[in-house]
Amino acid sequence: MSLRPIRRIVGAAFVAAAALLAGCATTTPGGVPIDTSVTAIGQDSRVEFLILHYTALDMADSLKELSRGGVSAHYLVTDENPPRIMRLVRERRRAWQAGVSYWRGNAMLNSSSIGIEIVNRGWTIGPDGQRVYAPYSEAQIDTLIPLIRDIVERHQIQPDRILGHSDIAPQRKQDPGPLFPWKRLGELGIIPWPDPTQVAGLETVYAAALPDATWFQQQLARLGFQITETGEFDEPTRNVIAAFQMKYRPARYDGQADPETAALLQVVNSISP
Ligand SMILES: [Zn+2]
Repeated sequence: MSLRPIRRIVGAAFVAAAALLAGCATTTPGGVPIDTSVTAIGQDSRVEFLILHYTALDMADSLKELSRGGVSAHYLVTDENPPRIMRLVRERRRAWQAGVSYWRGNAMLNSSSIGIEIVNRGWTIGPDGQRVYAPYSEAQIDTLIPLIRDIVERHQIQPDRILGHSDIAPQRKQDPGPLFPWKRLGELGIIPWPDPTQVAGLETVYAAALPDATWFQQQLARLGFQITETGEFDEPTRNVIAAFQMKYRPARYDGQADPETAALLQVVNSISP
């Protein structure tokens, strides 16, 4: 019997004991030991935003687009029965899902967000020339909500930072669209949701005197949207109003300023930190 195996065991035990004495030392490829025995309390997750999308494609094309093209997402909620949650990008890595984006002083949100795509066909043009949005299945939403809760809890994402792609890129994106159940997320306490009585009270006030474009632009900017204060209801402003309406008043998202939108905007601002 050779002595070699015994030597190996003794050698391994010596290395393990040395590591214990050094206090959880790991080694870099360069061979310099890193002492990880002290952890600073001044830190948080790099993930500050959760962005929700629809794919506007069927399942097969969604998966192909998000895994083999120039765009991606951390998670894909399928439209199968029951739906699956596919993880396409690890959370510690950056997925290419937000693109040119902005929310409350933060730009290019890919670096600071987690993106969830939901398989959904998006919109088509109906016989009357209007957009018709495809519904989400109950099963998809039931699958999505625990996923949102889990991500929010682990990264301590603030409720007002759970956003749609249309919130952070209102000039070019409509997803997750007016059929996404933001209200349900609000009722579950996942996102801030305006109190209807408060909104109704303010609506009466604004029906008597509708605020001007500058007021709307200031309120929308305060909430987080990227908007230029032009003092006019120009096309970019109407796009931002429509994005806000799709979330908080999906029954009408025409981009027109009206008393209910003004009331909603003021109440949502009052409950957003
Ligand atoms: Zn999107």
